[in-house]
Amino acid sequence: MLRTIDLRGTRPTPAGMLALVPRAATDVSAALDAARTIIDEVRRHGAAALLDQSERFDGVRPAAVRVPASELAAALDELSPEVRTAAVQTIERVRAASAAQVPSSQTTVLGDGAVVEQRWQPVARVGLYVPGGKAVYPSSVIMNVVPAQVAGVRSIALASPAQSGFDGRIHPTIAAIAALLGIDEVYAMGGAGAIGAFAYGVEDVGLAPVQRVTGPGNVYVAAAKRLVQGVTGIDAEAGPTDILVIADDSADADFVAADLISQAEHDELAASVLVTDSPAFAARVLERLGARARATKHSERVLTAIEGPQSALVLVDDLEQAADFANAFGPEHLEIQVRDPEATLARIENAGAIFVGEFSPVSLGDYAAGSNHVLPTGGQARYAAGLSAATFLRPQQIVRYDEGALREVAPVIAALSAEEDLPAHGEAVTARFER
Ligand code: NAD
Repeated sequence: MLRTIDLRGTRPTPAGMLALVPRAATDVSAALDAARTIIDEVRRHGAAALLDQSERFDGVRPAAVRVPASELAAALDELSPEVRTAAVQTIERVRAASAAQVPSSQTTVLGDGAVVEQRWQPVARVGLYVPGGKAVYPSSVIMNVVPAQVAGVRSIALASPAQSGFDGRIHPTIAAIAALLGIDEVYAMGGAGAIGAFAYGVEDVGLAPVQRVTGPGNVYVAAAKRLVQGVTGIDAEAGPTDILVIADDSADADFVAADLISQAEHDELAASVLVTDSPAFAARVLERLGARARATKHSERVLTAIEGPQSALVLVDDLEQAADFANAFGPEHLEIQVRDPEATLARIENAGAIFVGEFSPVSLGDYAAGSNHVLPTGGQARYAAGLSAATFLRPQQIVRYDEGALREVAPVIAALSAEEDLPAHGEAVTARFER
């Protein structure tokens, strides 16, 4: 069961608090050599290497790397009406929330005739990776594709591993959701090879290099993303998922237990953390957690996750200390289930996404809230954000000065360029006033 860490009466530093509940380490650096070899194979041998890698790692050789349009259309035809309706509703909500993430252009007037504008320009072409090793996540197709489309990305390619259970085709639900979203450039390829293919392109299947790769994946995907940075942009190196719940004795212990288990269901390495100022409430959660963990379908995985050192019940003096703990931990998902959630929310600085109140569980955000479920893991929420339309946009500054405005600022340029011993910089300005 969850181990207890009692912080009452103590004031550890943020680093001290973080050390008490260490995330499970996935050693990306140990996978770098394997990922480098796999990417090199793709660069040298193109499609043949990708097909060989599917056979080696996924146990099946796809008929072709590029998924034919007919396969995407057939998958959509065969999608069950329930899943299709659920997907359509999720797409609508994520599209609406993503549209609000597109920043507007700004114009700053710095003087007469001196203007600096900022506009947001979408990345031209992106490659979206949808994992498909141990489990498949059709919802991740929506979470990756929709913000890219909303941002105005012109060209979107999608990759997912070939499935041995489907004769080397990609998972039909992933194919169907891609078709539903209007994505027709889909590849049956997985792991580091897929990331390398996106970064460098694969001429013999007509795959042009992309400018940004996004999407979660296992340690080989993370290692490959680290290796291709600089050739292409990446979103983040995703690690095991986590949830941190701040709750007081007004919360429902059964709801909290259910939410802690819902994230533990993803992975043996997932972290489930409860932070509370009420030992009596904590005891109620532990009781419900035990009952639910034993009864749930993936009981073994859940129990491994909640009994691991990455999970804990943290007792604190008050909700201020609870917020301090959450800020140190930088959860991927934070739930606030307390009497006055706004007061706690105001103290939160670091979290991937925040779920307020007992009717906003993390599962809602995983599928249907409209928010994005690709969020910073491993404490990266202390400096990074989740996937959004902004991930696919770059701010560009546009400078417009007229003659009078340049003349006014010329002495500034002359002084600084002389100090930096770059006189040609100053001369590029004075040349304009010497005629
Ligand atoms: P995956 O698609 O990431 O990995 C499968 C691929 O890994 C294979 O196609 C193969 O190319 C490669 N591979 C397998 N064994 C290898 C080996 N020995 N050497 C080199 N390459 C090898 O699928 P997965 O493994 O199921 O991992 C998916 C991960 O993504 C999970 O950790 C899951 O929790 C995570 N995920 C996260 C989110 C999120 O939003 N954060 C969403 C969905 C999934």
